[in-house]
Amino acid sequence: MSNRRVNISPSDLTFNWDGCHRCLWLNYNHQVKAPLFMPLVGELADMQERYFIGRKSEDIHPDFPTGKVHSHGGWVQSLPIAVDGRESTFSIRGKYDLLLEFDDGTFGVIDCKFQGKNNDKSEFYTPQLEAYAFALENPAKDPARTVSMLGLLVWSPTRPGGNPTQGFHLELSWNWYPIERNPGQLEKRLTDFITMVDGDIPESKPSCEQCRYVLNRQEILDAL
Ligand code: SF4
Repeated sequence: MSNRRVNISPSDLTFNWDGCHRCLWLNYNHQVKAPLFMPLVGELADMQERYFIGRKSEDIHPDFPTGKVHSHGGWVQSLPIAVDGRESTFSIRGKYDLLLEFDDGTFGVIDCKFQGKNNDKSEFYTPQLEAYAFALENPAKDPARTVSMLGLLVWSPTRPGGNPTQGFHLELSWNWYPIERNPGQLEKRLTDFITMVDGDIPESKPSCEQCRYVLNRQEILDAL
């Protein structure tokens, strides 16, 4: 299939994998993607990342190993992924939020989250963060880097403050949720993902409003 995607986005291994596989299949086999509207999410995460540019790692969390923020929003691309011991046509390609460089020469990947409510989603996001680590440790072209730390930095609004004279602001809670390295889980997720994309188109989710809208619309248009 000429229009096939060969780069797997780390975020597709969590959020979209957890949803309906039919949309993912269409995206990877035909590059047809359902429009996604997530107001503010991108801007807030970007603000969070930029706040830490040029800082020391201890400025983000006192327990972090000594080091500094190396970069933010950098792209990583891995070597081809092996499935059942054989090289596939797929690689990981994605953009991390913050990359820390520690004094011992290892690196840390932080995913910045701006959540309405603070809660621990580290288990859910493990394959995504592990995918960044895989691409950094097995890069297509850049020098390989050893990743010693992964985790989520979650900011959540707690209460508004200020007044019309000085201006208003939101107070935030901040929480660090470390993620244990789990290459085995990533390997399984990638194998399941590539097997799904290589297979027949999966069933759609009967409860999905979007699919129902598309089908109903088509039915009406076909009958005109
Ligand atoms: S049910 Fe349809 S629109 Fe909804 S996620 Fe699946 S394929 Fe996409």
